[in-house]
Amino acid sequence: MTQTAPITQDVLTIPRKLPEGPVNLVGLTREALREVLIAHGTPEKQAKMRVNQIWQWIYQWGVRDFHAMTNLAKAYRAQLSENFVVAIPEVVSKQVSADGTRKYLVRIAGGHEVEVVYIPETDRGTLCISSQVGCTLTCSFCHTGTQKLVRNLTAGEIIGQVMLARDDLNEWPKPGEPAGERPRLISNIVLMGMGEPLYNFDNVRDAMKIAMDGEGISLSRRRITLSTSGVVPEIAKTAEEIGCLLAVSFHATTDEVRDTLVPINKKWNIATLLETLRDYPRLSNSERITFEYVMLKGVNDSDADARRLVQLIKGIPAKINLIPFNEWPGSPYQRSDWERIERFADIIYKAGYASPIRTPRGEDIMAACGQLKSATERARKSRAQIEAEVGH
Ligand code: SAH
Ligand code: SF4
Repeated sequence: MTQTAPITQDVLTIPRKLPEGPVNLVGLTREALREVLIAHGTPEKQAKMRVNQIWQWIYQWGVRDFHAMTNLAKAYRAQLSENFVVAIPEVVSKQVSADGTRKYLVRIAGGHEVEVVYIPETDRGTLCISSQVGCTLTCSFCHTGTQKLVRNLTAGEIIGQVMLARDDLNEWPKPGEPAGERPRLISNIVLMGMGEPLYNFDNVRDAMKIAMDGEGISLSRRRITLSTSGVVPEIAKTAEEIGCLLAVSFHATTDEVRDTLVPINKKWNIATLLETLRDYPRLSNSERITFEYVMLKGVNDSDADARRLVQLIKGIPAKINLIPFNEWPGSPYQRSDWERIERFADIIYKAGYASPIRTPRGEDIMAACGQLKSATERARKSRAQIEAEVGH
């Protein structure tokens, strides 16, 4: 009967193995950074201060070379560079649209690729980042949904997307320059790229905490929007542990239609989803939920749909973002006619909700919502075709 105790003891006394090779510091929480510094010889008493210094170099000034971290002793810098790296994903290619939208194709460990899109507007600059390679869900109108989930991105790969865009836009303040001196090029982050962020919750949370940290990138939680297809059990956690704004891929007003468009609806239906949204603990007038609604011709775009939509969300502080469907090769739907979209928007607007129609951006470089990765795949396909032609 006392047999289990010694076994537990044994497990606890096994020394924690240090990871092999240099450890990447990007993506570690402050607490994890502290631990890893101590594990590699930083005296515990100094650890807090070292965390602050290193954090500032990495996230406030964008410095990746330990030797340039001039407020640290030379010997300590050498010690750091032996044990650690400050590494972010590699940009494989960059395309700039006629409208200024930039799309980066980014390579992560294992040779996988994700896309990151920067959308400049007059009053803001939004960076759309990815949380997974592919997606486990299979929304029928979404190109990412046709790709299997390859893997979750690490926290470092998620925040790394913000860092590489800051590199490209030359947005890091010079060391010593106080924060807030220049206008922000990346003023907003949206988790609307590839993948379902709430199926990679911990990494998304850790990365967004880094983005919000006042000693670094320092973006307000109100400037970060996480978009979910409706992973109900994680929604309250999002409010509590991240505190960012929420967008929900709603897209239909009956369970029958939503079951086909957003199949996660079979697990958590419209009523369950709305109940959870109503409870979103931080909801206030200034923190409206964004309901995303993709306009699909003849599928979800009738006047009756618009009226049902406003009935359903009654009582929830909300804005409805109408997204004209972005077609991709082989997509089974068509974009609603412009007149239809405007009429739909009008019904919602008259019911008292903001109903902006999302202008497709970067269409010439296939950077619009739900098109990510497709251009690359097409390019690959044509390369493969060319190879086939040459080979035969
Ligand atoms: N997985 C998350 C976030 C990524 S998708 C989610 O589903 O919310 C970001 C937004 O783009 C979602 O609202 C999604 O439904 C929408 N979207 C996907 N494919 C689209 C397409 N082809 N045209 C227009 N919007 C699309
Ligand atoms: Fe995944 Fe979102 Fe696309 Fe659905 S819409 S398949 S949840 S990325």
